[in-house]
Amino acid sequence: MLLVILECRDGEIGDADKGILSAANRISTLMGGSWSAALVPGESVVDAAPFAPYGVPTIFVTSGVAEAANSPELQGKLLARLAREQNASLILLPHTDAGATLAPLLAAELDAALFTQATAVRSAQEGLELQHQALGLQIARRRYWDGRRPLVLTMPVKFLSQVVLPSMKPSCPEITVRPADIPELFPRTTIIERIPPDPQTVDVSEAEVIVSAGKGCDPHTFAQVKELARLLNISLGVTRPVYDLGWTGFERMIGQTGRAVAPRLYLALGISGSMHHLGGIKESRRIVAVNSDTKAPIFANADEGFVADLKELLPRLLERVRQTTGGAA
Ligand SMILES: Cc1cc2nc3c(=O)[nH]c(=O)nc-3n(C[C@H](O)[C@H](O)[C@H](O)COP(=O)(O)OP(=O)(O)OC[C@H]3O[C@@H](n4cnc5c(N)ncnc54)[C@H](O)[C@@H]3O)c2cc1C
Repeated sequence: MLLVILECRDGEIGDADKGILSAANRISTLMGGSWSAALVPGESVVDAAPFAPYGVPTIFVTSGVAEAANSPELQGKLLARLAREQNASLILLPHTDAGATLAPLLAAELDAALFTQATAVRSAQEGLELQHQALGLQIARRRYWDGRRPLVLTMPVKFLSQVVLPSMKPSCPEITVRPADIPELFPRTTIIERIPPDPQTVDVSEAEVIVSAGKGCDPHTFAQVKELARLLNISLGVTRPVYDLGWTGFERMIGQTGRAVAPRLYLALGISGSMHHLGGIKESRRIVAVNSDTKAPIFANADEGFVADLKELLPRLLERVRQTTGGAA
């Protein structure tokens, strides 16, 4: 039996929840068994309709534990208890901050194996084949799970599709509310505040939207790209030649030897599209490229391409952005 853990913060089914529900549906089919979902204790939902397209039969909600919302330890204890009761052999979580915190707690509670950030799960002779990407995205490491011991598995949100495949059978999910039976526990850790990441400082591999500058930028246009990133409050990336010029630190360099990224939007400005750079951006959901050369290889790899000279485009783009943002970010 597979148990998938959902965050559903403030009663909303978020992107990570949708992605992991889609994955859970698919993996449960591979396992040939049943599955259900459980909300992280401290959260609740009243409407089952948004879950229906994902085919989940049951959603467990723990009632009366508002204090659990700030205690991963308590959440781990309560979820482990549920997993035991449901005889769950595979516990699946999205690798969000909450999921990454809960996974080892659950594994310890259940004396289960732990595999984090699986980028692919396939059926294999041995049971399930779990794949993990290492060294940027250059190496695929594989492990096999034969089901003899429970497994706690996390999957990175950026590798999870929120798309509900047509083959999935919609369900009429039943919300099962379980009274909280708070274990005797004095939490050693408590979450006191949730601070959203700052796009200006966040690791580019975690960034949602990236504007990247290539060798097509001179010092002046590069300063304009940085200003664009600041005004739009998005992350800045660069190609290797720009890093080599010393204009940014290594942590901003994207590509085969730099960071691999998977943003919702990747804006490539003055980037030719070498295979070394493309290798690091191929997981981007949408690539928009601007280049003055109609034959630049980046265009063949972009969802949208614009032939333009950055020297002309950037001042106008900045002016437009300043008008809409009021000039400050
Ligand atoms: C082992 C190895 C590893 C590497 N790893 C990486 C890596 O991790 N990341 C990486 O990025 N590179 C890496 N490289 C380098 C890579 O091969 C390319 O040289 C590099 O990606 C090219 O960067 P670029 O597109 O910024 O520059 P260029 O290839 O010089 O392209 C500049 C582009 O800007 C356009 N342009 C010029 N002026 C303007 C203008 N005014 N307006 C609009 N467009 C303009 C040009 O038409 C051109 O297409 C690696 C190379 C090797 C050998």
